[in-house]
Amino acid sequence: MSDRIGLGYDIHRMEKGRPLILGGVEIPFTRGLMGHSDGDALIHALIDGLLGAMGEGDIGTWFPDTDPAYKDIRSTELLKRIMQRVRERGFSVIHVDSIVIAEEPKLYPFIKHMKEELSSLLDVHPDNIGLKAKTNEGFGPVGQKQAVICWAQVLLGEKNPA
Ligand code: MG
Repeated sequence: MSDRIGLGYDIHRMEKGRPLILGGVEIPFTRGLMGHSDGDALIHALIDGLLGAMGEGDIGTWFPDTDPAYKDIRSTELLKRIMQRVRERGFSVIHVDSIVIAEEPKLYPFIKHMKEELSSLLDVHPDNIGLKAKTNEGFGPVGQKQAVICWAQVLLGEKNPA
């Protein structure tokens, strides 16, 4: 078996009265992401990337948003469960690259903290985590500050290849 790549994408609506949580870090802001869970679109994209790399469906098949068990759950908790599956399958994370597209707030001051959080969750050195924050230059629902989009690409390797 060889290394595996996976790609994840997510979009969440931004609303008042919700916390803004991205990459497991709460970012002080007047609005946050809607969702059945805590709305952490970056973690959701990472989960889909990991599941894609393993060929094991997507976040919706593992954690249906119709299931009350996942109502308001921390997405980091969902990622921990998927990482358990990654280890069971004999894989480990080699590298991750990701993009958060949000018109506001400015995420730059939080990138280091987010990378540290992801490093511990994904069991990979922070140098092996790419995390970029971009705006959408005013275009579309992201540009109009109604939504946030996240992309994540992950590379998994076999922990103990034969
Ligand atoms: Mg989601």
